[in-house]
Amino acid sequence: MTPARKPDKAARPSARRGTSPFDASAIAPVQFDLFPVKPVVDVLDARAVVGPRTGVEDLVRVRLRPNDAPHLVFHDRHGWYCESHGPSCHAVTLAREEVKGGTHVD
Ligand SMILES: [Zn+2]
Repeated sequence: MTPARKPDKAARPSARRGTSPFDASAIAPVQFDLFPVKPVVDVLDARAVVGPRTGVEDLVRVRLRPNDAPHLVFHDRHGWYCESHGPSCHAVTLAREEVKGGTHVD
């Protein structure tokens, strides 16, 4: 009869050195495969939201995912920044692209 199958993992210990596929899947962000959602970027009317005399040139609401809390991104004389996270927030990049992209028709 056929001899019992040897478990591959036990027979090849070198394959387990370093990062195994299981470890990688536990660490790597998998939401790109499971949730291929696009950020929601809404260009707002700064004067309507902040006030008619505001110095804010652009005001953009960004949701990195639809169910996330929105980031409010301001563009004024200080530059671009997220209300909650400052100028380095990823939402700032998305907001600038949206405004400069010219997809917003006022
Ligand atoms: Zn933010």
